[in-house]
Amino acid sequence: MRRSSRRRRTVTAYRESGRTVVLIPAAFSPAEERRWVAQMVAKLQTREERRRRSLGGDDELMARARALSAAHLDGAPQPASVRWVDNQNRRWGSCTPADRTIRLSSRLRAMPEYVVDYVLVHELAHLVEPSHDARFWSLVARYPRAERARGFLEGVELGSAHGTSSAGDDDVD
Ligand SMILES: [Zn+2]
Repeated sequence: MRRSSRRRRTVTAYRESGRTVVLIPAAFSPAEERRWVAQMVAKLQTREERRRRSLGGDDELMARARALSAAHLDGAPQPASVRWVDNQNRRWGSCTPADRTIRLSSRLRAMPEYVVDYVLVHELAHLVEPSHDARFWSLVARYPRAERARGFLEGVELGSAHGTSSAGDDDVD
């Protein structure tokens, strides 16, 4: 819990290296403080739980991919399997059209859901069009937040690009 004299009314809570930080206005009474800390911690837990549930494991990811295929790609891409993988550090996602398998880097779990959905749509579109040609990009563009998600991932790549790896290495394939 941190008190801030600059804060008047707003309360904020977030996780910082494994600890929960709650920022409250300095003028709050001890009773207000207790009430707000309890409320914000509960809110944070609900948000994290909802996130875990919706991104979930491989089954949830498969269900999500099917829903995106139906919503944006006329249900044409029918993946045989969609899995989270931990060993994919250079790419956000990959697809093998021959056996219709899709893998997503578990690093994406920390990112907004629209970014995860973009990578899924990208890989699903490869089941229809394996190369990055104009037809492929017109399929991807059917996902309304494709541009925004690409911008987000480019920002992450620039932020983590150092030493020998260039930003271009870390791509959705
Ligand atoms: Zn691609």
